[in-house]
Amino acid sequence: MAYVITDACVKDFACVAECPSGAIAPAEGDAAAATVSQLFINPDDCIDCGSCASVCPATAIFSADELPADKADFAAKNAAYFG
Ligand code: SF4
Repeated sequence: MAYVITDACVKDFACVAECPSGAIAPAEGDAAAATVSQLFINPDDCIDCGSCASVCPATAIFSADELPADKADFAAKNAAYFG
């Protein structure tokens, strides 16, 4: 299980600083940060701590098993960002 970022993301990068496992990308200052529409969580690195969701100012982050039905495809979209 992992957390998932949805398209409500406003790219304020608070979650990146909060994540203990470096699972969230791109980071502020990365070249990709200017071009992506949102940030993403690598499900292989996420340890399911929930810290990112608690600091998100946009309520954009959900546990994969609590994703709203209309956001269900974002689990795959987050994983796809990491290839
Ligand atoms: S749940 Fe924890 S480990 Fe997973 S992306 Fe969020 S802060 Fe990082």
